[in-house]
Amino acid sequence: MKSVAMVAAFLAAWCVTGPALAEDFAVVGARIYADPQAKALENGVVIVRDGRIAAVGSRAQVSVPQGMKTIPGAGRTLVAGFWNSHVHLMTHDLLHPDAADPAKLEGQLRDMFTRWGFTTVFDLTSSTASATTLRRMIQEGRFAGPQILTVGDPFFPKNGTPVYARPVYEAEHIAVPEIRSTPEAVARLDRQAQAGVDGVKLFTGAILGAEDVMVMPADQIRALTAAAHRHRLPVFAHPTNREGMNAAVENGVDVLAHATPIAGPWDAAQVRKLVSAHVALVPTMMLFEVYPADSTPVATVVQQVRALSEGGGEVLFGTDAGFMDVFDPSAEYRLMAQAMDWRHVLAALTTTPARRFGQSHVRGRIGRGLAADMVLLDGDPALDTAAFAKVAVTIRAGEILSSIE
Ligand SMILES: [Zn+2]
Repeated sequence: MKSVAMVAAFLAAWCVTGPALAEDFAVVGARIYADPQAKALENGVVIVRDGRIAAVGSRAQVSVPQGMKTIPGAGRTLVAGFWNSHVHLMTHDLLHPDAADPAKLEGQLRDMFTRWGFTTVFDLTSSTASATTLRRMIQEGRFAGPQILTVGDPFFPKNGTPVYARPVYEAEHIAVPEIRSTPEAVARLDRQAQAGVDGVKLFTGAILGAEDVMVMPADQIRALTAAAHRHRLPVFAHPTNREGMNAAVENGVDVLAHATPIAGPWDAAQVRKLVSAHVALVPTMMLFEVYPADSTPVATVVQQVRALSEGGGEVLFGTDAGFMDVFDPSAEYRLMAQAMDWRHVLAALTTTPARRFGQSHVRGRIGRGLAADMVLLDGDPALDTAAFAKVAVTIRAGEILSSIE
């Protein structure tokens, strides 16, 4: 009996150890930008072995082993895999992955993220249980998807569940994650950290109505950011207005999850405040275009991103896909291009999030030994920022997640 049990255990372990090792291949003939500062490498070659980048160089420097599969890159541009640092894994299926058809989950993740080049997504609110389950299923090779980082359940102020969020929690039968008391919230944060979340999301300015924003008390923000930092987790804030932004920045938050156009243009003092507190911004520019309001002009969002970028602040790319059902990021690139040059946009998509979230030693650039997370674009973003959305092939850890061929 013992040996039968051992065989069964072995088979179970074998079945869930992960995807078959991705096939080795070469991307040949593309223009390569290895990182946002790098000069273009024309007619380049990248060799991928066992999911990692084994070699990068020109065709004269790097030869493709005979018989190796090749992906043609001529006329295309190869860059590192993109990060979308503000998404939500909140469709019904993504919130209940155990009950969903894996092929359907894979299809949803492709439509929302990987077909647009996102090899890493930071989920800034779903549920701790569903997001960590989804991530485990991808790691086990049950279906293909991006690298998932998550904040799990967010922290809403007491009696401060955002007006747009309440119906979702009711429809999905999920308890509303409001703070009942500071000790209770810190205890929940500790549990979420144990469960494997990668960050913490605080609604420091929660939208309760058109003119009604609830600002989280400063002592509560301080207690939660201190707890998060004990677990080495970054803290994101949904700021909404100037009070919600300043409450976040003055009390230890690391990343603003939206620009704050309702607060008006950011002057030099506001920018200095963000930069000196080392606070990054995920502006979610197109959100303000998709949901237009006189109080939140897109031109003000552009001003804030430009001011922060020119002031030396960190901008991370993010679209709020999953809250919005617009998954094509073209509008985000068009608006970002009004605020910064294409190299800064590429940094916001790759090196800046990799550094900010502690992964620059494994991804964020095209370099020997790094994970083979790459995007092959039709066109060159140096000539036209729209090319960032013209994704031909998305590769994560040497696995082709999406291809137009
Ligand atoms: Zn969001």
